[in-house]
Amino acid sequence: MLRYQKFRSSIMVDAGIGRLLIASLHQGISDVIPARLPFYENWLTPPGLRGSKFGLAPLHAVLSFLRLEGQTSYDQIMALAGQYTGDWGFGEVSAVERALVHSTPPWLRARLALRLSRRLVKHTFKGSKATVRMRKGAGTMNIRASIFCAVRETAAFPMCGFYSAAVERFLQRFDIDAQVDVSECKASGGNACTMAVTIRGHRAEERAAEAA
Ligand SMILES: [Zn+2]
Repeated sequence: MLRYQKFRSSIMVDAGIGRLLIASLHQGISDVIPARLPFYENWLTPPGLRGSKFGLAPLHAVLSFLRLEGQTSYDQIMALAGQYTGDWGFGEVSAVERALVHSTPPWLRARLALRLSRRLVKHTFKGSKATVRMRKGAGTMNIRASIFCAVRETAAFPMCGFYSAAVERFLQRFDIDAQVDVSECKASGGNACTMAVTIRGHRAEERAAEAA
């Protein structure tokens, strides 16, 4: 495990790329395809090593090689990398914010935590922006300028599973039983990059609260 914890997740390296993203990708690659890690380390330097300088071009090289690994490996790497980002991003939420969110009833907790999760997107890449909406236990997150989805040709499968895994893990860390799936991805021909957020078990409670 990388000694990521000594870095704040909001720290950017170069060109608005977050250390959080580099550390998470590095760890995801090393978990799923360890034999290929030395290859990726030609571009992807773990934070803290060699005083890493990083730019958009090397990042796009890494992402395009990851796409060539095929959907199975790509999805596994992105799911794990996203989970690391969710965990490390949760570790960066202040104790005050955490206590505040935890003190609310589950239906409200889901809304607040989803709003906080927009930070994960921002801390991954400064140029990306997330907007969220939630109603009756179902939410959506839209991601503008996803760093994973800037492809020249239409991709065969969605590219932004990283975000769905990150947000899902982040919500779970707030004890919210959530599932997040990519419902549409710009890279694979969709109009936008959109995540569907399903909160299990709180619909009745929310309906009761809204009716009150
Ligand atoms: Zn996408």
